[in-house]
Amino acid sequence: MLLPVRGKSIGLDKGKCDLPFLSHAHGDHTSGMKSKEKIISTEATLELARLKASAVSHPGTELLNAGHILGSTQLWAESDGYTTLYTGDFRVRDGIYTKGATPKEADRLIIECTYGDPSFSFPPLEETYSQISRWVKSNSNAILVFGAYNLGKAQELVKILNEYCGVSPIVAQESEHFNQVYEKHGVKLDRIVVGTEEAEEEMRGPFVAITTPRIAKRSFASKLSRAFNRPAYSALISGWVQKYRSNVDTGFPLSDHSDFNDILSYVDLVNPKEVVFVHGDGSHLMRALNKRKGTLFASLGGSSP
Ligand SMILES: [Zn+2]
Repeated sequence: MLLPVRGKSIGLDKGKCDLPFLSHAHGDHTSGMKSKEKIISTEATLELARLKASAVSHPGTELLNAGHILGSTQLWAESDGYTTLYTGDFRVRDGIYTKGATPKEADRLIIECTYGDPSFSFPPLEETYSQISRWVKSNSNAILVFGAYNLGKAQELVKILNEYCGVSPIVAQESEHFNQVYEKHGVKLDRIVVGTEEAEEEMRGPFVAITTPRIAKRSFASKLSRAFNRPAYSALISGWVQKYRSNVDTGFPLSDHSDFNDILSYVDLVNPKEVVFVHGDGSHLMRALNKRKGTLFASLGGSSP
């Protein structure tokens, strides 16, 4: 999607334009960014995404915290007296290392709706952190394998395990680039990298590991159980566990996005004349808002991790 602002066409998480805006470093938002020399973004986002571009600003625009992952921002822009807020992926609530998204009033709101179905209703984050902690502590003699995406969720989970359980988990090599950027920006992560001597030592006893959801299945836990001769269980960390759970022992509804009611409350805070839903199915939200306000709405397709 392109946004004309004071003589430039700004690409919203889209490289093909005069000047792209990159909201955060997840792969489905970085398309076409590699060849760019200048990107409206944060240093942390460019480092996480391994982009060489310079982080720049543009007249009439402002970056606002999005609360999604390290470095994530929204873009607020004013052009010809009309204001727009694009959220990118965003989380309304404060997380263990993130502040909730900062709203700003705008005429038009372009808002992410990955969890725009009313069946998604996430418990308070503190409650989910405590649930994870109870599960880890009640299985202290077992091997526990968490499935969490390498960027964002994995770092949130390391923090939870450090602070709520006193555990340093074993993490995948693939998450190390991201872990190091997080630490550079002040998020301390006590962890052990798989394949190191320290990890070998840790794996002589019960241990906690984080890998991707694709690997962290019950079948993988069974293999570990046979190899290390102790019980092993798997858990998925994702908002999607409220709808789907495949081949894992348990799941925790921890998401770095906003749920249905969070999205509606954010629309109220921005107080727009027009709302455009992106990255998900906005039809339920559109119906809910039209009933309340009779505002102008449009919906676009798309997906987001
Ligand atoms: Zn994302």
